[in-house]
Amino acid sequence: MELAEKIIRLKKARNAVILAHNYQIPDVQDIADYVGDSLGLSMQASRTKADVIVFCGVYFMAETAKILSPDKIVLIPDRKAGCPMADMITAEDLRRLKAGHRGAKTLCYVNTTAEVKAECDVCCTSGNAERIVRGAFNKDEEIIFAPDQYLAQYISKKVGREFIMWKGYCPTHLKILPEDIDRERRLHHVAEIIVHPECRSSVTDMADEVLSTEGMYRYVTETDGKEFIIGTETGILHRLRKANPDKMFYPLCERAVCPNMKLTTLEKVLWSLEDMKDEVIVPEETIAKARKSLEIMLNH
Ligand code: SF4
Repeated sequence: MELAEKIIRLKKARNAVILAHNYQIPDVQDIADYVGDSLGLSMQASRTKADVIVFCGVYFMAETAKILSPDKIVLIPDRKAGCPMADMITAEDLRRLKAGHRGAKTLCYVNTTAEVKAECDVCCTSGNAERIVRGAFNKDEEIIFAPDQYLAQYISKKVGREFIMWKGYCPTHLKILPEDIDRERRLHHVAEIIVHPECRSSVTDMADEVLSTEGMYRYVTETDGKEFIIGTETGILHRLRKANPDKMFYPLCERAVCPNMKLTTLEKVLWSLEDMKDEVIVPEETIAKARKSLEIMLNH
C-alpha cells in the first residue's frame, strides 16, 4: 500500500486531522487536510471535531494548536523541528527585559514558545501585527516587541512608533538579500516582488508588497497580475502554483529553505499516527496564561 493511502486510512481510524504549514515539503502539503500559516492552522485545529491533530510544522506551532485546543491530542511528527527564531528568547529573558522597563506592555510574535507567550500581554502574527499595535495598546504605552527585530522594524515604520525590540531574527529569511531583488527584477521585469516582513529592512524597502504567507496567498490569487517573485521560504511556492496554475511564480532566493520545516516527511507522519507520537504537552498553567495573550489578539 502507498504511504499516502496508509496515512489516510489511519487518519480515519484515529479520527485525526493533518495540518501542514505553507513551508512543508510538497508531499506533506498534499496529504494535509489544511495548509496555511501557523495561526490559521491552529484556528482550524480548534474548530475541528477530530480527536487528534497531527501538526506538520515546527514545535511552537504545535504548541499554539495545543493552547487553543487543550482537550485534543496534538502530535508533531518530528519533535526536533524547532524554530531558531522562537528559541532566541526564553521566558526568563523576557521577564528580565520587562523588569528593566517597568510599565511597558509586551507584544509577542506568534513565533515564540508557550512559556514566552505566557509572559506576554498580547500576541500577533506577521499578518495582523500592524492592526494589533494600532488597536490593542494606548498611544502613550511603551511596547516591548519580541522576538523578531525585522518584523518589529517594519511595523515600527508603518505605525510611526518606536518599540523596545528583542534582537531575534529568522536565519532563513535573512538569507534573502537586496542583490536577489536586483537580479530577479532584471530576469522577470514584469513580475511583482512580494516579500515576508521577517526579511531584513533593506529587502522589505525594495519590495512591491510586504505580506505574511497567508497575505501572499490571498494577494496572488485575487490580483490580476500573472507573474510573482516570492521572497519567503521556498516551500510556499508549491501551494501558490497549485492554486494558480495559470500564473508564474519564481523564488526570490533559492537559499531561503528552513531546514526545520523540511524535517517532516510522509514516513514520519505515518509513524506519528501509528505510534501516537510525539504528543505535545503544555502545562495547564502555561496554557491558561498563554491563551490570554492569543485571545486578546483574536478579539482585535
Ligand atoms: S522559516 Fe524562520 S521563522 Fe519560520 S520556522 Fe524556520 S526559522 Fe522559524
